[in-house]
Amino acid sequence: MRKKTNCHYCGNKLTERLSDERLRLYCEHCNEPVYENPVPATCIVTIDETERVLLVKRNIEPKKGFWCLPGGFIELGENPDGGALRELKEETGLEGKIEMLIGVTSSPSSQYDTVLMVGYLVKSYSGILCTGYDASEAEWFNYTELPEIAFKSHLMFIRIYYASYSTHII
Ligand SMILES: [Zn+2]
Repeated sequence: MRKKTNCHYCGNKLTERLSDERLRLYCEHCNEPVYENPVPATCIVTIDETERVLLVKRNIEPKKGFWCLPGGFIELGENPDGGALRELKEETGLEGKIEMLIGVTSSPSSQYDTVLMVGYLVKSYSGILCTGYDASEAEWFNYTELPEIAFKSHLMFIRIYYASYSTHII
């Protein structure tokens, strides 16, 4: 992860100080610590009528070439569920309806240190499956034939779905 070097308010060079028992980046000019937090992202477990899960092949780093759930970072002013459905549409062409929240977890990130990952379930959707700019392929998979999944958090949500909510016995 790239460390911040300058204050994003005044541009002053940052130092480090112990604050609330954590070594934090500190701006001497603003006289304030620079708080760093997980970056919120969403992903969607989309399930078809034969209980297959929809995956996309990543076209961008990190984990380019690996399969993962459709999803991405929440934009400013966006609700988490709205952001998740936007990403689903962008990456797969499908318009979905959120069925339920599967869970929320923290996940390590090479770019942002920690990502807060929100996982939703979609079982009703419309549209024709196609791929967008940050996915090179989109495909339905049986749970027993999953490829390697790019992110542990995504795999966790897929497993929770099949273990607790799937109508199929696996
Ligand atoms: Zn500053």
